[in-house]
Amino acid sequence: MLEVTRVSKIYAAGDKALDDVSFSIPAGQVVGLIGPSGAGKSTLIRCINRLVEPTSGSISLGGTVITGMSSRELRSVRRRIGMIFQEYALVERLSVMENVLSGRLGYVSFWRSFLRRYPKADVQKAFALLDRVGLMQHAGKRADALSGGQRQRVGIARALEQDPELLLIDEPTASLDPKTSRQIMRLLLEICNEQHLPAIINIHDVVLAKQFTERLIGLKAGAIVFDGTPAELTDTV
Ligand code: ADP
Ligand code: ADP
Repeated sequence: MLEVTRVSKIYAAGDKALDDVSFSIPAGQVVGLIGPSGAGKSTLIRCINRLVEPTSGSISLGGTVITGMSSRELRSVRRRIGMIFQEYALVERLSVMENVLSGRLGYVSFWRSFLRRYPKADVQKAFALLDRVGLMQHAGKRADALSGGQRQRVGIARALEQDPELLLIDEPTASLDPKTSRQIMRLLLEICNEQHLPAIINIHDVVLAKQFTERLIGLKAGAIVFDGTPAELTDTV
């Protein structure tokens, strides 16, 4: 499904942010990416969604090598990867519904939102997703009227609206209280299991990672120092 092969990243400044990283993720597996600050977690996520070009190595998604692609080819690759962010990245002045629809459109067109002309199938799908994340009754509200946990639910629905093959999730609970964090992690795990959707979750909270992911990959100074089940993780990482 996702295959990362001997990926290294050296930034211009000379920092080796990733050092010969290899792993693969089968369909449906939910992976927690853990490690101290500066370990290379964000760099790895950015290499997979191709915001960063690896210095060496290759990455393939569903059998397609996505490293070394032109920026034009990259647009279609990014549509196959659903992103979920720490700060949600919603369009605050738009409705919850329109934020979810923007996952499929790639952007929110002013005229489309003004005229409310969205394909019916997309709208039906967005309603079904909002129902799944428990926000049906909030579909018409502006995003800025929601709580943090609700915003993250919108972020999840938006990522799913584009029918991704893979979810990349960057610190989804860093702005949330502990109880809401657990609810969001449980929801992510349940949805990935239902849809047989693989996910990589960059999460510095090891307790949450152990409870709500199926496999942990530990990075330290750009290298993989642990790759196993949560139960196998000892205090050495
Ligand atoms: P993490 O997400 O685990 O905190 P990062 O991937 O952000 O780690 O950083 C890994 C290393 O790469 C760090 O040493 C960091 O300073 C460096 N780094 C990250 N982004 C850049 C960048 N854009 N330019 C130069 N160095 C960077
Ligand atoms: P996070 O806590 O989300 O990992 P970081 O502090 O690692 O955030 O990075 C914030 C931003 O700064 C990112 O865009 C990252 O690429 C960039 N960055 C991190 N370290 C460096 C660095 N040493 N030089 C330049 N940019 C960096």
